[in-house]
Amino acid sequence: MLDAGPGTVAQLLRRNTPDELDAVVISHMHTDHCLDLVTLRYSYPWIDVAKKRLLVIVPPGSMAQISELALGAGYVNFFDKSFIFDEHDGKRPIEIGDLRFEPDETQHYVRTWGFRVQARGSGEDPNKIFAFSADAGPCPALPRLADHADLFLCEAALRSLKEDDPAPQSRGHLMPAEAAEVAQGAAARKLVLTHIPLPDDGKWALEEARTAYDGQIEIAETLKSYEI
Ligand SMILES: [Zn+2]
Repeated sequence: MLDAGPGTVAQLLRRNTPDELDAVVISHMHTDHCLDLVTLRYSYPWIDVAKKRLLVIVPPGSMAQISELALGAGYVNFFDKSFIFDEHDGKRPIEIGDLRFEPDETQHYVRTWGFRVQARGSGEDPNKIFAFSADAGPCPALPRLADHADLFLCEAALRSLKEDDPAPQSRGHLMPAEAAEVAQGAAARKLVLTHIPLPDDGKWALEEARTAYDGQIEIAETLKSYEI
């Protein structure tokens, strides 16, 4: 599971049981990407019931915030019987089962990593790439992440540039057309837009993005599967 924003665990439980998860990877510590670790902890069996504690990979330097989240949720050991946390180092690939996650730091308001993900299991094509922007303003990491990706899941959280910091080096999100420009420049084969501001169905975002990208574009849909 990649990121755990509010509501994601409720959706997960419609299809899976929590102990089917191999791991959770958190891109950054904004609560709209990690708050459902608390919900997941309530759904995930404790170690005396579960076969193993669930591996939760978090960004470098974020364990202090995890401790505060635990305290805010009730007590300092809140996660201990269910999860085992591991900070990645921001550079080296993370191996989880047959999946390999290559982190790349994006430009955001707090330190954030996007990922290029490959599957290397038997019968899987290691050349297929799933890329995730995480949260990001325009930055050099985005074309690296999206480079010839088979599916580029990219944020498009802005309706107008007025919603972001005006300084280019302080931007933290993308307009749909900017996400599309990245996909176009990086020759990504398919673009799926996410983090679309509510309330609307994202049609405007799709139209904006189509002006800058020739490939297939979709708005991410809850519970939809995307084959790569
Ligand atoms: Zn964020």
